Amino acid sequence: MCRVCGGAVHEFFDFGRQPLSDAFLDPAGVGHEYFFRLAVGICESCTMTQLIDEVARDRMFHEAYPYHSSGSVRMRRHFEETAQLLLDSHLTGDDPFIVEVGCNDGVMLKTIDKAGVRHLGVEPSGGVAELARGQGVRVRVDFFEESVASAIVAEDGPADVIYAANTMCHIPYIGSIFRGVDALLAPDGVLVFEDPYLGDILRRNTFDQIYDEHFFFFTVRSVRNAAARFGFELVDVERLPVHGGELRYTIARAGRRAPSPAVEELAAEELERGLAAPADFAGFAAGVNRIRDDLMGLLRGLRAEGKRVVGYGATAKSATVTNFCGITPELVSFVCDATPAKNGKLMPGSHIPVRSPEALADPYPDYAVLFAWNHAEEIMAKERAFHEAGGRWILYVPEVHVV
Ligand code: SAM
Repeated sequence: MCRVCGGAVHEFFDFGRQPLSDAFLDPAGVGHEYFFRLAVGICESCTMTQLIDEVARDRMFHEAYPYHSSGSVRMRRHFEETAQLLLDSHLTGDDPFIVEVGCNDGVMLKTIDKAGVRHLGVEPSGGVAELARGQGVRVRVDFFEESVASAIVAEDGPADVIYAANTMCHIPYIGSIFRGVDALLAPDGVLVFEDPYLGDILRRNTFDQIYDEHFFFFTVRSVRNAAARFGFELVDVERLPVHGGELRYTIARAGRRAPSPAVEELAAEELERGLAAPADFAGFAAGVNRIRDDLMGLLRGLRAEGKRVVGYGATAKSATVTNFCGITPELVSFVCDATPAKNGKLMPGSHIPVRSPEALADPYPDYAVLFAWNHAEEIMAKERAFHEAGGRWILYVPEVHVV
């Protein structure tokens, strides 16, 4: 049943039994993993694409949540620019107030704090929340929802901006979120959020955007329907080049702001492309299966030739790729990742060891599968010496290729 409107959800792809994408294991923890069925479908009524099965939120977001937003130079720059944009546009009144849902390690709010603007991050994962505090950011360790929003408005007053990046798509209880936004947002305030765009996922075959934490896959039309359902209106939409293609949505109370022409333009483009009916997803399934077959064919071939292959980027996305394709430590001997909390651990499900990026040069392998393809430019520049030494990167979206 659709988590937005209660309509029937038509399942269009089943990735089978999958582990939690960020549940990196101590070698002693093997045998005690949690698995769930990762399947995705589209609501036949409101067009929202969503997971079929939901994982309990505190299994995913907790003290040891390992994703640190500040890990990428490009994302640090993106969030500095975003903070500046919000400061210049919606936070110009007397004593403005911004709430960020899912502030993680404070990557965006630290710029807001430096500008002296009142703010609050709401972040359930205690470890990253503590890092944000260390940056001077004010944080409430909680899941944002209706009751929390009411408590915030009682303490701090209404918010001019409620902002979320790569977080709204993580929250299945969307009704509670919108009711919370209704309680907390000032009459002319805006809810601004950015998330991976279903249009780009389908266009580039980035099936690894589908994992436990990504519950919703938004489009202009599905977000517009959802907002309207809760008394809000989608008033602006902007394409963002980060994380493989995202949209930034601006939502206001219905009738308070004139919608920008971009909303209708992109909604019309979606109608033309077909991002709203079960039949529109037939090509996606074929593309995913082709990538799996090509990638496994390549990795098995390289193994038969005695080549050394490692991975780069123990991302949440890589859990879907390794487990759906069946990549084992025999095919990819370890994965490099700079996140301290992942180091020395095993990847969920596949049990491929995670090692620090320095391990890449010790000695250089013949090939490295770039699981963090969304940071390809940054990583390839940093690891130029690997390529210069004859090493080759394996990429698998939009199709399997070697560079
Ligand atoms: N905003 C950061 C960024 O774009 O890099 C962090 C994104 S991270 C993928 C998702 C974050 O949402 C996690 O830090 C998680 O703990 C947080 N989160 C999940 N559910 C939440 C909720 N109901 N309220 C607030 N934060 C939530």
